[in-house]
Amino acid sequence: MKFRFAPTAMPDTCQSVHSLEEKQFARLFSDEGIEDVEDRLAILRVFLQTEDHITSVQLMDLLEKAGYNFDPDFVRETLRLMCRYGFACKHDFEGRNSTYEHLHLGQHHDHMICTKCGSITEFVHDQLEAVQKQAAASYGFHMLQHRLEIYGLCSKCYTERVKLLPLAMAKVGEKAVIRDTTGCAKFRHRLLTMGLRTGDALEVITSDGRGQVVVSVEGRRMALGRGLAQKILVEPVNGNR
Ligand SMILES: [Zn+2]
Ligand SMILES: [Zn+2]
Ligand SMILES: [Zn+2]
Repeated sequence: MKFRFAPTAMPDTCQSVHSLEEKQFARLFSDEGIEDVEDRLAILRVFLQTEDHITSVQLMDLLEKAGYNFDPDFVRETLRLMCRYGFACKHDFEGRNSTYEHLHLGQHHDHMICTKCGSITEFVHDQLEAVQKQAAASYGFHMLQHRLEIYGLCSKCYTERVKLLPLAMAKVGEKAVIRDTTGCAKFRHRLLTMGLRTGDALEVITSDGRGQVVVSVEGRRMALGRGLAQKILVEPVNGNR
């Protein structure tokens, strides 16, 4: 969870919130009779140093870099305790391993998850928050909390995507690089057996205008049917479109 204060105010505010979290954590865990509070506090400290959504494995890496060598089970148990006592929040976003982030009291945000690169974008949208409450109320439902996850392409992946076009639409003489496919795993395997991989450069030799193309790849001619050529996404090489 990132702070949404003026950027110049961020480090100080962030640090003071985090040192407050550490104090509360130490007190609460001692009061609850939880063992190894000092070690767990060290884990919390390292966890608070990143503002990313991290997996338990990534937390283990950060701990190692910070010079700690805790048992993975101990780290995972501490993460569970951090979640149970409200210092961390666990997310199971689709297509990703479980990730954890800080949970700061009184702060809420939602997430956009890129299904291509896996990046997570946090957002707060006041109108959306209000509309969700209204929607719940219109069903006679009293909303207490919510999680909103929006799946799609992040701006970087989207920009890359719109630069791509199906090979079937490439013009004769066009040089392009294979970047992606819209086909399933079976389709990608078929391309591989034909000797086509993402990153391969090709040139369109002929095109019948209806999608069937003949391309040259590494000095070889290959005839690709319409179905195939439509599922191969290429990026035209700069300067020839
Ligand atoms: Zn978040
Ligand atoms: Zn934080
Ligand atoms: Zn992305």
